[in-house]
Amino acid sequence: SDSHFPVPVSPAHCDWTEHFPVLAAAGDGSASGQQQQQVPKVRFADVGCGFGGLLVRLSDLYPETLMIGMELRDKVTEYVKERIVALRKNNPGRYGNISVIRTNAMKFLPNYFDKGQLEKMFFLFPDPHFKEKNHRRRIISQGLLAEYAYVMAEGGILYTVTDVQELGEWMKSNLDAHPLFERINLEEQSSDPVVEFLVATSEEGQKVARNRGDTFVAVYRRVPSPP
Ligand code: SAM
Repeated sequence: SDSHFPVPVSPAHCDWTEHFPVLAAAGDGSASGQQQQQVPKVRFADVGCGFGGLLVRLSDLYPETLMIGMELRDKVTEYVKERIVALRKNNPGRYGNISVIRTNAMKFLPNYFDKGQLEKMFFLFPDPHFKEKNHRRRIISQGLLAEYAYVMAEGGILYTVTDVQELGEWMKSNLDAHPLFERINLEEQSSDPVVEFLVATSEEGQKVARNRGDTFVAVYRRVPSPP
């Protein structure tokens, strides 16, 4: 249950220095004024990151961007931690920009991120919760989209993919209905280097590809809030 992992009471209480060497090197966060502003922040979140395949791939693509995986399962989180430690050890100077936290992203996102902080959010192969009475547990819903919109920067991109057609339609209809998200068309998607990795790098995506299953990608932009 949630009591098994610590949750920061607010983003200001979040100690990212233990996750990212670049922040540890920048000091204890007590730097003042301008210096403080230059300390990088986490910009990408992979929600329900599983075994971390997407993060590992994106680490190379955006080496200057700090990104975090959020994962509910303890053992899976520990695996990802160890995977990153090993990658850093075997590839000096690389993989310092990715890390993972064990948390319930459906409950605690605003405890970790400030308003407008995230430039990309990923929801790859989320649990489908097939039964109608469990739809409220789905990770894309009107209530949760309001939270995602809050932590996302205007112009930020939210990526979803699933192999369950009905869930794909559910995610799209929820996103289409939300005033702070607009769908990105296929042409624009094809110029986004990240889109091809959604299926190819995640462990779940690879499994679906091996079984020659279909996948349903939907990508949305966080549009500016009305004045
Ligand atoms: N995204 C990964 C991939 O594509 O390989 C994993 C997909 S797996 C089907 C869904 C993952 O979401 C599981 O690892 C599960 O533990 C995690 N998860 C489910 N609910 C979550 C929540 N509320 N917060 C964080 N992670 C969650």
